[in-house]
Amino acid sequence: MTLDGKAALVTGGSRGIGEAVALGLAEEGADVALTYHSNKERAASVVDRIKALGRRAWAVQADSADPEAVREAVAGAAAEFGRLDILVNNAGTGVLGPVGDLTLEDVDRVLAVNVRAPFLAAQAAAHHLGEGGRIINIGSCMAERVAFPGGSLYSMSKSALTGLTKALARELGPRGITVNLVHPGPVDTDMNPADGESAPMQSGLTALGRYGQPAEIAATVSHLAGDRGRYITGASIAVDGGFAV
Ligand code: NDP
Repeated sequence: MTLDGKAALVTGGSRGIGEAVALGLAEEGADVALTYHSNKERAASVVDRIKALGRRAWAVQADSADPEAVREAVAGAAAEFGRLDILVNNAGTGVLGPVGDLTLEDVDRVLAVNVRAPFLAAQAAAHHLGEGGRIINIGSCMAERVAFPGGSLYSMSKSALTGLTKALARELGPRGITVNLVHPGPVDTDMNPADGESAPMQSGLTALGRYGQPAEIAATVSHLAGDRGRYITGASIAVDGGFAV
């Protein structure tokens, strides 16, 4: 197991991509903490499955829009496991729509959840991470290529993670910590179901002509988190079926 003895925190780990990431890290040997917003039962079920793999697991309700909740989740995970080696900033909110229809509340919430929270979590985690530490941000294929209208706010929020990732990679590199950004393409989750109205259009925008599965994103996160990913830092990695091509 490549992650034996390591401890991870996955934000938004109760469903979708975050759930697959949490389970993937646990399968590699890590103890895993996760945050969720409101779905306590789903979070508990992920915790049970991680424990069934023989790892420690811990879930905490923490709205990423709340700065204190984000900081407390990081501190709580480190306290629970006595260490923190891997932070996956996955929780995100996808608000799409014509630029004229987006409200100030939309702007504030999307930036709080998709941008401020990853910054604050990374800032808090940096106190705990040591040599071999990992920060992995989950962006979006819409950070690099906006192939249909309605993405002004969401794409802006996700491309902000490029600057965060590169700057942190530069700053934390001397401590042996890597920081990377994974850009999923359309992935079959509650946020973007593969049987949704726009799914055929989104599938058609990929080179492979299909949606991805959460586990296909988790596989790359596990690679980055493990020792085999040790020379990758500051990178934006598309796991998008060729959406960005
Ligand atoms: P889902 O909506 O399926 O799941 C979201 C997860 O994040 C849940 O665990 C949810 O918790 C949690 N969450 C949502 N809002 C908050 C919040 N404010 N505070 C804390 N936790 C929160 O999303 P996906 O799995 O599809 O997306 C995961 C990430 O991947 C996001 O950053 C998204 O932008 C990105 N992404 C997704 C794509 C897709 O096609 N699915 C494509 C590109 C990027 P709870 O269960 O309690 O609600």
